[in-house]
Amino acid sequence: MKTKTIILTVLFLQLVTLFNIAAIFGAEHQHVPALLPAEAVKLLQEGNARFVAGTPQHPHFNLEQVKETAEHGQHPFVTILACSDSRVPLTVIFDRGIGDIFSVQAAGNVSGSAQLGSIEYGVAHAGTPLVVVLGHTKCGAVTAACTDGGHEGHIEYLVQKINPAVRQTQLVTGKTGKDIIESTCQNNVFLQIEALKTNSKILSDAVKNGEIIIVGAIYDIETGKVTFLETSHKPIETPLKKSPRFRSNNKNRR
Ligand SMILES: [Zn+2]
Repeated sequence: MKTKTIILTVLFLQLVTLFNIAAIFGAEHQHVPALLPAEAVKLLQEGNARFVAGTPQHPHFNLEQVKETAEHGQHPFVTILACSDSRVPLTVIFDRGIGDIFSVQAAGNVSGSAQLGSIEYGVAHAGTPLVVVLGHTKCGAVTAACTDGGHEGHIEYLVQKINPAVRQTQLVTGKTGKDIIESTCQNNVFLQIEALKTNSKILSDAVKNGEIIIVGAIYDIETGKVTFLETSHKPIETPLKKSPRFRSNNKNRR
């Protein structure tokens, strides 16, 4: 009888332990409200403001976050297509850290198959509610396209991707060459956004379904400031309907 009581007590304690483990596990994996696209834009704007003010907080910039993301996976809040330029380090200029930004970089912030596949992964698998195409001032690739340069090797491929933006800027301004570099940088951002939607069904469907927004921005390499560009398609502050597929895969990264 005594043995039976001991066995029952042990079983009871094991059940309690299992229940506690389940409760803890459930707490860690319960639905955490994800960011809306406009909230993700706000995080970037706030981080860039800290960077420009010289008061960075370096969130998620430590070994603890390295271990956290290695163990639990990545939950970035934004996918950014930016230029490869070494003066445009994304986590620095947005004052973010490990696991925050899904970065895709190619000179001139253009996209071929490799970039498209990477952005699709950032959206469909890493679950970012926001895609930013980030151009920058004094862009070498855009400068080459505006001044009929960059014909060597595979650089020609990049220039060809930027040429429609050059032609559009020439048409609108009536100017050519060095005079249109900065306005072409901006037009190139808009055309690269269109290219993402034209060339990727995953991205265009996600936009149509209100699961993501794609916005453009320009980084000023002289001041460190990022300016978000309003598009005629969806203002960045427009609240979008919630998508379980994307929101369940996100954590609030504040
Ligand atoms: Zn560039």
